[in-house]
Amino acid sequence: MNEINTIEGNLKLLEPLALDLNKYFNKGRTLTLFKRLPLCDETANTTQRLLDGSYLLSPCGIELDNNECNSLALELIDILKLHLIDRTDEIAAINNLLINEQIISHDIVLKALKNEGNEIRKQISHANISEDLFTFYLVYLTRPFREQAANFLTEKIDKLNWQYGYCPVCGHWPALGHINSEGGERTLWCLCCDTKWKFKRTQCAFCLNENHEFLEIINPVNEESFRIQVCKKCKRYLKEVRSNVEVKNFPFDKMYLGTIPLDMIAEKEGYIQESILTVRYDNPDGNELLMYRQKATKEKIIFN
Ligand SMILES: [Zn+2]
Ligand SMILES: [Zn+2]
Repeated sequence: MNEINTIEGNLKLLEPLALDLNKYFNKGRTLTLFKRLPLCDETANTTQRLLDGSYLLSPCGIELDNNECNSLALELIDILKLHLIDRTDEIAAINNLLINEQIISHDIVLKALKNEGNEIRKQISHANISEDLFTFYLVYLTRPFREQAANFLTEKIDKLNWQYGYCPVCGHWPALGHINSEGGERTLWCLCCDTKWKFKRTQCAFCLNENHEFLEIINPVNEESFRIQVCKKCKRYLKEVRSNVEVKNFPFDKMYLGTIPLDMIAEKEGYIQESILTVRYDNPDGNELLMYRQKATKEKIIFN
């Protein structure tokens, strides 16, 4: 079995899950998920923030609709139960924690929105559940909230003028890149809030390195469409899919989940996967600090 069969096989197997996830997202779009939305600046300020490299979502003062949150939490459990049949016991364990109120859905969503990754990890280890599954669950449970916040924060902006590798709305690293197979331009996608933004193809999204000697494309055997851009400077990588399907119709979630074999290849080659629970920069306004940290991370990785 080679990687092509694995990715294509995965994509076919994922079709029913992707359809159910889409239904779940669509339902989320019809609900009023916030009792109090995040603060939205005037358009001129928002545009300036983006130019300065400050992402927009600040969780300060937000209030969720707890009932809607709970119903999404249970609906997502049902979807996972149906499609991740080899994790049935673990999903049942998460379900029990929710029912017994050992985990409160609106509490963990709020923690996720505040990027309190360490707090969430503590809760995960306390409850004795596996981190990968719970992270997956929580990121997808929080997604409708982040998506609604993203739409609210960007509704008056015509064009996202953004030149950074992390998400302009929620600050998370991109989970997948889409390369237009005709024009060649690259669009990055945020798994956490579903925002897409254009980004230079020949630049590392994580450390902004543009030196082509340190950037490489790894292709699985005989397969041009699915690939990994790796950066030898910061040792991070980004999965990419070359496609002639337009960004607005591209099934990012299915592709992200279906290209897990690429993560395994990258890991084998010694590249690091960024956590999807936390953002690197907690303060969206701390631009100088943010750039400093971006450099500091790079150096730490090189010299350690
Ligand atoms: Zn985002
Ligand atoms: Zn890099």
